[in-house]
Amino acid sequence: MADVELIKKQITYHPDFPKKGVVFLDIFPVLRNPAAFEALLNHLENHIKSHTLALSESKKIDVVVALDARGFLIGPILALRLGAAFVPVRKGGKLPGECVKVTYEKEYGADIFEMQSDAIKPGQNVVVFDDLLATGGSAKAAGELISQVDGKTLEYIFMVELPFLKGSSKLNAPVYSVIQHD
Ligand code: IMP
Repeated sequence: MADVELIKKQITYHPDFPKKGVVFLDIFPVLRNPAAFEALLNHLENHIKSHTLALSESKKIDVVVALDARGFLIGPILALRLGAAFVPVRKGGKLPGECVKVTYEKEYGADIFEMQSDAIKPGQNVVVFDDLLATGGSAKAAGELISQVDGKTLEYIFMVELPFLKGSSKLNAPVYSVIQHD
């Protein structure tokens, strides 16, 4: 697909960043190219309208949840296009008011994610968005927050997935990624 190729060729690869032995995929160049950014948003919106909606009985997306921090670049625009609410999942201690909380394992030690408790109503249909799926720990933690407030996660959606890390096997709903990178 021409749109996926346009998006894919913007992504850059950075060996030994942020530490030796890691190849970091930088998605910011996609946002630097208006045609590629527009193609990404159109691709995600089309996917949700043609596939994700079919997973919900009400045929409605109520909430787009996106993950701190790069998920925030795309999640709110997607929510606006879908007529859905945007809800952030943030690192611990950043959100005011009552929050649900989850501790999850990162490569080096544990981290905390939080979401405002009243942001999702029981039974609402939720799509989770993040820039990249690696081990799946972050997305799984977001899914646990959504379950804590009785939201229904319809699908996890990513710009890029690293399938060899098998992150999708940790998640409690289908996974869609625009680009799979080996
Ligand atoms: P996971 O929890 O192991 O699936 O890691 C996914 C999280 O780490 C996402 O929030 C990504 O933003 C971030 N991440 C991990 N590797 C990369 C990368 O190469 N490029 C951009 N983000 C990454």
